[in-house]
Amino acid sequence: MDRLAGKVVLITGGASGLGRVGAERFAAEGAAVVIADLGDGDEAIEAIAASGGDASYVNCDVTDEDAVRNAVEHTVSTFGALHVLYNNAGVMIGDDDDPVSTPLDTYRRTMDINVLGTLLGCRFAIPAMLAAGGGSIVNVASFVAHMGAATPQVAYTTSKGAVLAMTREIAVIYARQGIRCNALCPGPVMTPMLAKFLSDDAKRQRRLVHIPMGRFGHPAEIANGALFLASDESSWMTGQSLIIDGGITAAYVTPE
Ligand code: NAD
Repeated sequence: MDRLAGKVVLITGGASGLGRVGAERFAAEGAAVVIADLGDGDEAIEAIAASGGDASYVNCDVTDEDAVRNAVEHTVSTFGALHVLYNNAGVMIGDDDDPVSTPLDTYRRTMDINVLGTLLGCRFAIPAMLAAGGGSIVNVASFVAHMGAATPQVAYTTSKGAVLAMTREIAVIYARQGIRCNALCPGPVMTPMLAKFLSDDAKRQRRLVHIPMGRFGHPAEIANGALFLASDESSWMTGQSLIIDGGITAAYVTPE
């Protein structure tokens, strides 16, 4: 229960979905957690406090430079340092489709939140981590950073490929300064994001057919990976991609 004892963690998009489950797990492992989100974080903070954890919320749009700077300052002033950045905020927009028909606004918004948001988190967290003597950055990409998706979503897939490339770049730049940077690549997990996208049974089956284990992931299974990357248990691991996907990226043909 103390795999993150003494660590201060900033989680973007931690008010719901995978980020929220991660925030609760990190707090249960002894971390002080700051949730930075556009949405209401009260429920997440109260749940962590009710379990005896330390947490704080800061309103933040990850595409807004000042807001991200403020989120890092809030973290350091509230808990004294910053050791882990869990760059989790991300979107998949409903009309994201093929390159011919995807609205450019959808492309730009997706790239802004998923890619620029990840960069801004790193931009302001890295100096704070250096001041703390080092740290770990966990950038949430996706299995689609490694392979084309079964349903067209060109903006989202492109954005997650960029997150993976950015992760390697940052890992190499800071490898000798005590900051590690890894990508976490989940397969499909039924969070509000995916539920919105896979709105009917036919769409869900279209995805399930590609998952060798025959089911969607559970948020806790992704949080387990995030915890490993955030903690010192992964101390000689940087610039890597941890894929947690029920076997999707291992399969050529899915067994019956
Ligand atoms: P979600 O929609 O359930 O939650 C995303 C959270 O991010 C929300 O709390 C939302 O308010 C917040 N957010 C959105 N835009 C923001 C912004 N501009 N600034 C700050 N916060 C913002 O999504 P999720 O399924 O929990 O996804 C979390 C991450 O995991 C995303 O990066 C997503 O791309 C990635 N991912 C999800 C799946 C999946 O199947 N659910 C698979 C692979 C990768």
